[in-house]
This record gives sequence, structure tokens and C-alpha cells, in this order.
Amino acid sequence: MNAEIIAVGSELLTPQRLDTNSLFLTQQLNDLGVEVTTKYIVGDNRDHVADAVRRAMSRAEIVILSGGLGPTEDDVTREAVALAIDRKLVFHAEISDHIEQRFRQMNRKMAEVNRRQAFVIEGADILPNDRGTAPGQWIDESETCILLLPGPPHELKAMFTRQCIPRLERVVPKQVIRTLVFRVAGMSESDLDQTISPVYKKYDNPVTTILAGDGDLQVHLRAHGASEPDALGLLTEVAGPIDMLLGERIYSRNGDSLEAVVGELLKKRHATLAVAESVTGGLLAQRITSVPGSSTYFLGGFLTYSNKMKTELLGVSEETLQLHGAVSKETAEAMALGTRRRTGSTFALSITGEAGPEPIESVPVGTVYVGLADAAGCQVLHRVFLGDRARIRVFATQMALDMLRKKCTVVS
Ligand code: ATP
Ligand code: MG
Repeated sequence: MNAEIIAVGSELLTPQRLDTNSLFLTQQLNDLGVEVTTKYIVGDNRDHVADAVRRAMSRAEIVILSGGLGPTEDDVTREAVALAIDRKLVFHAEISDHIEQRFRQMNRKMAEVNRRQAFVIEGADILPNDRGTAPGQWIDESETCILLLPGPPHELKAMFTRQCIPRLERVVPKQVIRTLVFRVAGMSESDLDQTISPVYKKYDNPVTTILAGDGDLQVHLRAHGASEPDALGLLTEVAGPIDMLLGERIYSRNGDSLEAVVGELLKKRHATLAVAESVTGGLLAQRITSVPGSSTYFLGGFLTYSNKMKTELLGVSEETLQLHGAVSKETAEAMALGTRRRTGSTFALSITGEAGPEPIESVPVGTVYVGLADAAGCQVLHRVFLGDRARIRVFATQMALDMLRKKCTVVS
């Protein structure tokens, strides 16, 4: 079964406001096994809202509107829905009395405009609102149910959870949605797609989507089934081969971040980590320490942006810096070895690179060297990333964390 959500409110079309109601509603509907196929954000315009309602009704069995049930001229949801389904609005004296009473409780007099909130679409069931003045409405119109809910999130949530979910459970055929997320590092989006599309393309259910962001890739699988075992069975049928194809490039199967996964691996090995950062200016240490409990394995780091600091704090020789440059394999290696020597950590990661926008060293913008030192020596990886300064810096930390993850996975 499918649902469409219409968020009404001109304020939601400004850069200051976000439609969060639909996120809540989508989660709740998914838990019922209902898929949200389209969301609309429509300004306070009766005809535009009516258009959206008609379109949503032509495709979905459930149409939910949020907002625009207030008392003012710009609250048009009631009129818009009445127009879309060609029904009258009927005045309910008992709603008006109830609103008046609410105002009296607050020692205020109800304004005349609030009477507008006592109009209900002919044939609708009234959903009482114990957190505000505007009641919700539930309308059964041929094959579709239309729900009008108030905009303020705490009112909408209470009304939906207490009054709509029990009713929807009776309407919606029993369906279960189960999802699985693989998080992948160390490959490009197109490589990832090329690798796994022969598997997922054969299936409509589960639906597979790839999300990409700054060196981090996620493969999302969503399966529908009549029961939990049914949905899980479908999920496994596709997830199994994808898992096999990607192998160790998958760093998480439960949504954990790369820094959290690395932290777990270090803890398991009773290993410690220290870092030396140049181009990333502390971003690597920031990511590592964003994980609760990271103090058990993270010793600390050096932020050696200048050559002078690289030499004084880490013992990178002036000769290395002059001969090879600050952005070089040799400097990355000397930084990692120096960090390990100074801290006594099991592992030391170093990052040096050129994030641009203008190249300063004689290397292309996007050049990154990551060093990883342990008792056996030091390994350095080199990459050139495309993108702006922020992106290159995030990619560099992703590369460093992934390098350590692979090292820990191989050894453990
Ligand atoms: P009211 O009686 O408060 O006018 P209403 O049902 O008309 O109720 P709106 O005027 O549309 O609701 O919205 C009231 C407030 O609720 C808005 O100021 C906004 O902060 C919040 N709101 C409305 N819609 C959303 C939404 N989709 N997501 C998050 N917040 C929302
Ligand atoms: Mg309003």
C-alpha cells in the first residue's frame, strides 16, 4: 500500500524552515508496511493544495496533509480538500464550544476567526486535538483515506500515534518492511554500482539504492513481505551475493561509522593509536574522538601544519622536507614514524596533502599521502582526490581510517 504526504505551509518553502512532519510520518507509515511514494510541500494556496490532493489521490491509497488547519485566512487545508473531493464544509457547534472552552481555561477570549476551525468536511470523522485548537479529520473517499493533521509537530505526533495508527492498522494489509545498509569505503560510486548492479537489477523487491557522500558509500536494501521471515528472506536473497561481491570493502553492516568500526577493531586488539595531521588540521582526530569511549585506544595527535612543527614535534628532517617537499611519501612516512616514536602507540597515522584551491607545493591540488606506522615499519598510500577543499580533507581522513581498518582486519 502506498501513501503520499502533503506538507502545507508557505513557511516551509523558505530557507529557514524544514518539513520534519513528513519524516516522522514516513517512519510511522513504514513501520506499518506502507511505502511513501511522493511528498509535496505546498504554500498556503487553496488551489495549489487542492491540485496536490487530486494528484495524490490518483496514485495513493493514503493521503496525509499536515498543517494549514489554523484559524487564519492563510490556513487553507480544509477548503482545499473540500474543493478537491467536491464536498461541503459543515459548521460543528460542539467543536467551536470546545475551542472556546480551551481559551477560557487560559483566561482568554476566543477570537472570532477561531470559528473557522470548527468547519469539518461533510462526512469526515473528527480527530480530537488535546494539544491544540485545530481538530484533525479523517475522510474515506472511494478507495482512498485522506487525513488532515495539524502542523505543530507535537500536535501532529500525538494525534497520529494515538488516533490514526490504530485505524490504519485495520485498513492496511499486514505488510512488513525490512531494511539493510552496507557501508563501503575505498571505491568510487560508479565502481560500486558496476560491481553490484548485475545482482540487484534483477529485483524490484528489495529496492536497492546507492547513496554517496565524501568517500563514504552506502548500499540500502528495502524489502517488503507479508511477514517478517518473508521480508528477511527477500532481503537475504539479494544481500548475500552483494556481501560476497564487496567482501572486505564493506566496513559496516549495521550502520556504524568508519571511525566507530576502527575503534572497535583497536579495542579488540588492545591496540593504541596516535595521529599526525597536516592538511586535515585535526579533522582525523575529531572523527576518532567523536566515538564515545575512544579514550581507551586514542592517545592523541600532532597538528603539524608548518614544516617547523613537523621537524620540531615529529623529528621530520629538514633534508626530507627540502628534498621531497612537505607533501610527499617521504614526509608522510617520517611523520607517522615520528608520531609512533614520540607516543609509543601501537599504530600511528599521518596525513599530508594539498587541498587547494591554489597549489602551493609543486603537487596537484587533491594530492594526499597517508602514512601508517606499526611495529613492522611504515606503509604510505598516495591518492589524488577531485573536489573542493572540504571534500578533499574529508576524503583524506576516510582514506586514513580505512587504511587502518584494513590493517587491523588482516592482522586480527
Ligand atoms: P496553527 O493553529 O498553529 O496555525 P496549523 O495546523 O495551521 O496550526 P501551521 O500554521 O501550518 O499549522 O503550522 C504551525 C507551526 O507548525 C509552524 O509554525 C511550523 O513551525 C510547524 N509546522 C508546520 N508544518 C510543519 C512541518 N511539515 N514540519 C515541521 N513543522 C511544521
Ligand atoms: Mg497556521
